[in-house]
Parts: sequence; structure tokens; C-alpha cells
Amino acid sequence: MKPNLLISGCLSGQPVRYDGAARLLEHASLTRWQAEGRVIAFCPETAAGMPIPRPAAEIACGGDGIAVLDGHDHVYEITGRDVSAQFVEGAHKALEMARRHNCALALLMDGSPSCGSNFIYDGQFSGTRHAGQGVTTALLQRHGITVYAPAQFPLLEAAMD
Ligand code: SF4
Repeated sequence: MKPNLLISGCLSGQPVRYDGAARLLEHASLTRWQAEGRVIAFCPETAAGMPIPRPAAEIACGGDGIAVLDGHDHVYEITGRDVSAQFVEGAHKALEMARRHNCALALLMDGSPSCGSNFIYDGQFSGTRHAGQGVTTALLQRHGITVYAPAQFPLLEAAMD
């Protein structure tokens, strides 16, 4: 049986980003998987009750989602508000959704403090990247779900088909 795919809501065209925009990813394979009923779109931050738009947020001090899950680091909005609890809640809701729909794979928006997989930002709101995962990615991977960034689409195609 072919796997199902959890996809970031913003990549599927939902205007759920912190700035109220989407980041629609268009690809023939993705369109086909959607037609086959194998794609579940989900935004962990809005699922945790965060508004649209909302202040930008980053994981502090060059940390990553693993550290946040384990309580060793925090996620802060640019305003200084600690939103770690919301990010962890959103990650658990994403895991619940993936399990409910038998999603063994995920395609998540890179760079996000929730959905990043190859890189995230360093907590200074300066645009500086570093290697690391967002909170949702870290939880999904901890539970055996393989997460791909859009830049890894060929690898995802091989796994899906
Ligand atoms: Fe997109 Fe993920 Fe951010 Fe939601 S939390 S807007 S799905 S990158």
C-alpha cells in the first residue's frame, strides 16, 4: 500500500503563514497524490489557536525543535512573548493528524520554527539560518515519520510512488 502524505497547510495553498500569505507548491506529482486522496494539509500553528496574521517567531539561541520538545529551549515571537507551549501543542496535533490518516511521510515548509527540516533561523530575527528542525518536524521524526523539505521533492517522489 502506498503511503499518505502530511503537507504544510501553506504549501497546499492555505493562507496560514504568520504574514497571512500562502506558499503554494505546484507540482504534477503533488496534484496526482491529491487526486488519489493521499494528501492531508495541516498547519500546526493555527491548529494550536494562533491567529492569522501573527508576529514572526523563532527558536531562541540557535536551538532547535528537539530542544524545545525536551524543554531545553523556547520559541519566542518577535515581540518577546514565549509561545513554546503553542508550538508544542501544534506539533502534537500534527502527529495526531498524521497518525489518523496513516501518513508515513511529510512535506513541510523549510525554515519555519514549526515545519523546518533542513534549516531554521537563529532566534535573532536577523535572517541568519542554521541547520536544524522545527518543533513539529522534530516530533514527527521522533515518531518515525519521514519529513522532506520542498528542495527534496525528488526524494519524496521516490518514497511516495
Ligand atoms: Fe506553514 Fe507550518 Fe508555518 Fe503553518 S506552521 S504556516 S504549515 S510553515
